This record gives sequence, structure tokens and C-alpha cells, in this order.
Amino acid sequence: MENKFYITTPIYYVNDEPHIGHAYCSVIADILARYHRLFGDDVFFLTGTDEHGQKVAEAAAESNRTPQQHCDLMVKRFQKVWEKLNLSHDDFIRTTEQRHKIIVQEILRKLWEAGEIYEDEYEGWYCVPEERFWTEKDLDDGNCPSCGREVQRLTEKNYFFRMGKYQDWLIDHIKTHPRFILPESRKNEILGFLAKPLGDLCISRPVERLAWGIPLPFDEKFVTYVWFDALFNYYTMKNSSPTSGLTLFSITILRRFPWEMISGPPAFI
Ligand SMILES: [Zn+2]
Repeated sequence: MENKFYITTPIYYVNDEPHIGHAYCSVIADILARYHRLFGDDVFFLTGTDEHGQKVAEAAAESNRTPQQHCDLMVKRFQKVWEKLNLSHDDFIRTTEQRHKIIVQEILRKLWEAGEIYEDEYEGWYCVPEERFWTEKDLDDGNCPSCGREVQRLTEKNYFFRMGKYQDWLIDHIKTHPRFILPESRKNEILGFLAKPLGDLCISRPVERLAWGIPLPFDEKFVTYVWFDALFNYYTMKNSSPTSGLTLFSITILRRFPWEMISGPPAFI
């Protein structure tokens, strides 16, 4: 049987210029794509850009542009570099494209109808640069435990995905699929993380605080948050069922949200 090999880079965040880290990861993906093509595999190599969120909105405001103008400008820079590096990707996805938004909204609607998403009050400590909430016990000396910066106290209505109920399934999946997370050391790190209760995932932001995102199909006063937007690019562009695949990720992404592992192709680096 012909091997359908699906490979993706992470999609890159356009709040700033492309740098050597982006190029490093993309070149690795390109080498793997070319290697598989040499052996006659049916390869689909995807890369792209993550364009919503607070940091993009802020970067746009600083340069007196609309977020869309800012993204259009930054994306060209990424595409130019990829051209110079002669990358052989088959598609380039932008999360502001209609083809992506439609599928994200469809997934959100289905999960809402199935009761997998619910509304609740959220109160916590918020790290603005990283766009995420922390609980009191997470804080490191009163500051963000991830980046060390100051946090703000915030309470707001939001929507949550029932991620906690998938914890056992996720642990079991990782243990029974030894190549799901590579290398081994990272797999063990994530399993260690999953030994603690996972909790549910806040998937929205109120438009009044963040307008630059994909609106929730069941409440237009909210946009969805990065993990229900950017994450789904790997799914929206998967045009057929691959028999094998690889998604390259930085450990920072992997460590921050084990949820990443639920919907991606089978392996991470
Ligand atoms: Zn932080």
C-alpha cells in the first residue's frame, strides 16, 4: 500500500519577524518531506502562519495598522524567506483564511451542541504577553510561572472545553502509542505533567478585550482562543487520511498544553 505521509511545521506566530528558529524547524520538515518523496511516498507538507490573538493585535496597533494589514505584511516576509530556502511545502495555511475559519467554527458548533463546551465565570491571574490565565498556586512569587512577568487579577464570563474528562484517555493513548511523542524524554515529561489533574480548558476571550479572532458560532460576543484556532490548522488542511505523519513542535508548546496532543498527527519533536 502506498504510504501517505503528512508532515507539518508548527504554524508561526506573526507578531514579529521570521527568525532562525522558524527557519531551523522548516528546513528539518523540508528534509523529511524530500526524503519521503524520494522513496515514492505520497507526501503532503504543510506550513503556515498563526495570525490571531492579542500579541498580533498589539503589534498592529503599535505600527498603526489594522491587524489584517499587519498580518498581510508579515506573512509576505515569511513566504519570501521560505522561497529563498527553497522549501518544498505543498500548502501554506493562514489562520485568517476563510477555508480555516469555516472549519474551526464548524468544530466549535458541533462541540457546543454535544455539550462538550459550557459557559462559566473565570477568575484568575492573567499574563498579558502570553495571553493565559494562572491559578493562585501556579504563581511564582506572585509572577507568571512561565515567563516571570507581572500578572493581573481578572474575572470574566468565558466558555470552557471539558478537557479534564479526556485525561485518562490521553494518558492511555500516549502509553499505548510509543511513537506518539518523540523523543522519549519529552514523552515522559508530558506523562509526568498528566499525573496531576488536567482541568477544563478556557477556549474563549470576550470581544471587548480581544476582537482579533474567530467568533464563537453560538455567541458572537466572544472569539475563540489560540488552541481552538491555530491548533486546528493541522486538521483543516489534512485533505486525506495519512497513513503516517509528523508534526514538529517546540517543547514550549508541548509543555504548555497537553491538549495539543489530542488532534494532531502522531508524533512530536
Ligand atoms: Zn507569562
